Amino acid sequence: MLTAILNSLRTGVVTSAYPATPAKPPERFRGAPEVRPGAQVDLLPSPSVCPTGAIGGGSTAAYSIDLGRCVFCGRCAEGAPDRGVELGRQVELASRRRESLMLQVASDADGRATAATAPPAAGQVAGQIRRVLGRSLALRHLDSGSCNACDWELTALLNPVYDVRRLGVDFVASPRHADGLMVTGPVTRNLATAVRRTYEAVPEPRLVIAVGACACSGGIAGQSYASAGGVAEALPVDVFIPGCPPRPEAIIFGILLAVGRVDERRALFAAASPPVL
Ligand code: SF4
Repeated sequence: MLTAILNSLRTGVVTSAYPATPAKPPERFRGAPEVRPGAQVDLLPSPSVCPTGAIGGGSTAAYSIDLGRCVFCGRCAEGAPDRGVELGRQVELASRRRESLMLQVASDADGRATAATAPPAAGQVAGQIRRVLGRSLALRHLDSGSCNACDWELTALLNPVYDVRRLGVDFVASPRHADGLMVTGPVTRNLATAVRRTYEAVPEPRLVIAVGACACSGGIAGQSYASAGGVAEALPVDVFIPGCPPRPEAIIFGILLAVGRVDERRALFAAASPPVL
């Protein structure tokens, strides 16, 4: 017992302050691709470099990158000769609307990128959910066919570093005890019925959070004889969290977005960082 107390005193506090302070991804973190303003649009990497079909456009359509399909592999950044595409470091990418994850690249008369519409950082408050659930949230994790990468990131939410219970969020063993589902993976056709029944077992009002590229869009698996595609093919999704897999902070942001607590997080951050006079 004494050894355990001494060890914990030696280690100190390891728990991240996120979301009260900004997320600090490690140096080698690979985030979502970003198009540099001023980049020559016709020199941007061709859609064929992308293994998931996330890049759209070409001679007839505007250039776009679907962050809900992207696995942040970086092939488009390697294939951009003038560094027109680079991997960013933003983790707060979750959105309540699937189409908000579509990065549309506008260009000027010289064919240079002027703006890439980024996904909004926050969405509308889930009013009914907030009213009924207050500040606590019980989630049931549902693997609908994932490779387990997103599942490991969900597991990390419960470790001493991310400790999502400090925010009133916990994972429960039964959908009947849950306020919502966190779904990982594409919906495999063999599991489609089980996914639907699990959703129906959650009492209303219920949330569905799609975690990771596969849950957002089908990802690498796409749609096939074995995969129905993203979770939205089977269930109404409240929040999409892109990434392959998303970092724990990205998942925390998605959960707060689902229950409308992003503004509260910003207020906490403002209180923790008074303006310099
Ligand atoms: S980083 Fe995303 S958009 Fe770029 S090639 Fe990889 S999957 Fe495609």
